[in-house]
Amino acid sequence: MASITLDNVGKVYPGGTRAIGDVNIQIADGEFIVLVGPSGCGKSTLLRMVAGLETITDGEIRIGDKVVNKVEPADRDIAMVFQNYALYPHMSVRQNLAYGLKNRRTPKAEIDRRVNDAAEILQIGQFLDRKPRALSGGQRQRVAMGRAIVREPAAFLFDEPLSNLDAKLRVTMRLEIKELQKRLGTTSLYVTHDQLEAMTLADRLVVLNAGRIEQIGTPLEVYRKP
Ligand code: ADP
Ligand code: ADP
Repeated sequence: MASITLDNVGKVYPGGTRAIGDVNIQIADGEFIVLVGPSGCGKSTLLRMVAGLETITDGEIRIGDKVVNKVEPADRDIAMVFQNYALYPHMSVRQNLAYGLKNRRTPKAEIDRRVNDAAEILQIGQFLDRKPRALSGGQRQRVAMGRAIVREPAAFLFDEPLSNLDAKLRVTMRLEIKELQKRLGTTSLYVTHDQLEAMTLADRLVVLNAGRIEQIGTPLEVYRKP
């Protein structure tokens, strides 16, 4: 696990759009932070910068003591969960889970242990030999989370992971993520525009507006405001 520090972070896209201006956030080890705010306020830009997928125009982002963008992508100790799952369609669930570890030359016994642990935690053990197309949306999203868990990363980044699911499944999965958070205690940065998701999951909420922090605090502190 690791803390995440955003120091005076800014982002201007080529063409001149300022997406993020002067953002400071200190995320503690094991803390679950949810980023909320209206469409276009800069949530995914900020998340993608932490992930090292987007260049940083101003300031610095650190995960633990590593400065993002100064370490090779393979050494970035984070795992990201996307809303479209991003599973490999031609691979079985087991192969999807193992793929990232194989690339990092993790020993086979260790891969098997981690894959079986993740499958147990996410209750996808009975699907390990299926292809993603033979799974429901909720099962696919569990596999996507499994792929993040097996990496045993210092931090999880979630980009609206439940927004493609129907309302009922969103409730179930929200509670599952909450359980996962209790069990693993991994530092997390989670983007959503669903207020219930935000309130259920967040230790602290960061409310972004036009690329700047409007409010930061516990769900009670933020939503109690008049
Ligand atoms: P959100 O995730 O909150 O909807 P985004 O981070 O996607 O917000 O977008 C923040 C701002 O940056 C918006 O004004 C958006 O149009 C702009 N933007 C996002 N991606 C790009 C890009 N690749 N090039 C130029 N502008 C972008
Ligand atoms: P989201 O906010 O959920 O990322 P968007 O539809 O805003 O969804 O963005 C989808 C993709 O398009 C993102 O990768 C984003 O970086 C990019 N994008 C968003 N706005 C712009 C823009 N104004 N110019 C170029 N690319 C953009």
